[in-house]
Amino acid sequence: MAPEELSLLMRALAFAAHKHRDQRRKDLGASPYINHPIALADVLVNEAGVTDVEVIAAALLHDTMEDTETTAEELDQAFGSRVRRIVEEVSDDQTLEKQERKRMQILHAPQLSNHARLVKLSDKICNLRDVVGCPPRGWNLQRRQAYFDWSKKVIDGLRGPNPELEGIFDEVYKSRPQ
Ligand code: ZN
Repeated sequence: MAPEELSLLMRALAFAAHKHRDQRRKDLGASPYINHPIALADVLVNEAGVTDVEVIAAALLHDTMEDTETTAEELDQAFGSRVRRIVEEVSDDQTLEKQERKRMQILHAPQLSNHARLVKLSDKICNLRDVVGCPPRGWNLQRRQAYFDWSKKVIDGLRGPNPELEGIFDEVYKSRPQ
């Protein structure tokens, strides 16, 4: 890996850790939020063999616009337009109601660029694993099942270019709570 690529990755990790520093996941143990973006990067690199550092950086940064005060301009300046665009593509419009945002993810999935698809696939893989392994507080069976079903609808809309990650998603989907 070239020094600039390693530098980009470490800057993205440090930036995301800083932006998410006061946030916790919704699981029982309230794990540090940054564990989630790190898990996406781990899936991309170590399970799917992705080597495009800008995609991996975008995975590390994927929730910064949606869940922190980070702006597109900030990402553009720090990481370049390609990383910024991928993060923008996978970010929900926070001005919409939650149910509408979820509906839009299904509608928008077929329009995502391939790089955004990689990030979206790894995000859904990690979220489903969390729902099984360390579920959010207060989620009953029905809610966990509904989350699996919605995630599958999103992924079904972006299938094709990434059979390896799609296969990993399908494996995880088999653990749908019963
Ligand atoms: Zn995420």
